[in-house]
Amino acid sequence: NRRIVLAARPHGEPTLQNFRLEEAVVPTPRDGEILLRTRWLSLDPYMRGRMSAAKSYAAPVGIGEPMTGGTVSEVMRSEHPDFPVGTLVQAFGGWQDYSVSDGKGLRKVDPAVAPPTTALGVLGMPGMTAYTGLLNIGEPKPNETVVVAAAAGPVGSLVGQIARIKGARAVGIAGGPEKCAYLTRELGFDAAVDHRSDDLPGALAAACPNGIDVYFENVGGAVFDAVLPLLNDFSRMPVCGLVAAYNATELPPGPDRSPLLMRAVLTKRLRMQGFIVWDFASHIDAFEREVGGWIADGSVTYREDVVEGLENAPEAFIGLLKGRNFGKLVVHVA
Ligand code: NDP
Repeated sequence: NRRIVLAARPHGEPTLQNFRLEEAVVPTPRDGEILLRTRWLSLDPYMRGRMSAAKSYAAPVGIGEPMTGGTVSEVMRSEHPDFPVGTLVQAFGGWQDYSVSDGKGLRKVDPAVAPPTTALGVLGMPGMTAYTGLLNIGEPKPNETVVVAAAAGPVGSLVGQIARIKGARAVGIAGGPEKCAYLTRELGFDAAVDHRSDDLPGALAAACPNGIDVYFENVGGAVFDAVLPLLNDFSRMPVCGLVAAYNATELPPGPDRSPLLMRAVLTKRLRMQGFIVWDFASHIDAFEREVGGWIADGSVTYREDVVEGLENAPEAFIGLLKGRNFGKLVVHVA
C-alpha cells in the first residue's frame, strides 16, 4: 500500500521535498466498512490550501498524513451490504493505493454510463462547481458576455460551454495559444485571450466590446486587474478560486487598490459572492441529469490530462498550479 504523505508545509510554490512516498500496511475493513483500491486520483488546486496550516473552510492535512483527494475506487473487500466487491465508487480515498470507508458520502460510478474518470471532472466536483456557481450566482442571460479564466480546465471549460447553452457570449482566458485555440475551435467559446500576452487588458477589452456581465473568478491577480475596468453595471461575479495567489507568501506590493475595487462595487452595483461547491449540495441530481444530457447530445465536451502512476502525483500537482495540465488532471493509480 503506497501512499504519499505531506512531509513538510510549502513556503510559496510546493516542491517535491514537501511530499514523501511511503509503504503502509493495507488496512482491514471492520463491520460496516469496505476496503477500497484507488483506480484514479483527482488532482485539484484546492489541495494547495490543504498543505497550508492557514485557517480555511476545511482542516489542513497533518504533517506525515496522506494527502487528501477525490478518487474513483473499487471495492476489494466488503463488510457493508450496499457496496459489494467489485463496485466502483466515487470516494475520498486520498493519495494512496488503499483506503477504508464506512460508505458515507460515496457515490456509485457506472462505467456503462460514462468513463469513470468523468466522475472526478466534468460529472464530478469541478463540473458541479461550474454548474452551480455559474447558474446560481452568475445567472447569465441571453446576449450577455461571460468571462472565465483557467478556461481550458475542468471548471472554466464547463462555465464557458454552459454560458453558450444559455445564449450568452463566452470569452475564455487561458495560458498559451494551444489552449486558446482549443477554447474557440473545440469548445465553441466566442473568443479566447492568452493571459501571457504582452497586453492582456487590451486583448481582453477587444474580446469584450460590450463589456462584461458575468465574471466567473477562478484566478485573481493580473487577470482580475484586466477584468475590473470592463465590468458592466449590475454585473455578477461568482468568486470560485484565486489560483494565481495560492503560492503567494505575502500580499502584492502597494499601492492599496482596495478603494478602487470598492468604488467599482458601489458605483457599478457589482454583486460578488464567494462559494464552495458543497454549498449547493442539494443541486447534485439536477447537475448530473442536466450536464449528463448535454454531454450525451454533444453540447458539452471535455478534456482530461491523465498522468500514469501514483508516484508522479506530486510533480503533476506542482505543474497544475502553473498551468502545465491541459484538461482535468487525473492520476491513473491502478
Ligand atoms: P485547472 O485544471 O484549470 O488548473 C488551474 C489552472 O489555473 C491552470 O491550469 C492554469 O491554466 C491556471 N492558472 C494558474 N496560475 C495562473 C495565473 N497566474 N494566471 C492565470 N491562470 C493561472 O483547475 P480547476 O478547473 O480544477 O479549478 C479552477 C479554479 O476553480 C481554481 O481556482 C480552483 O481552486 C477553483 N475551484 C473552486 C471550487 C469551489 O468550491 N469554490 C471547487 C473546484 C475548483 P492556464 O494554463 O490557462 O494558465
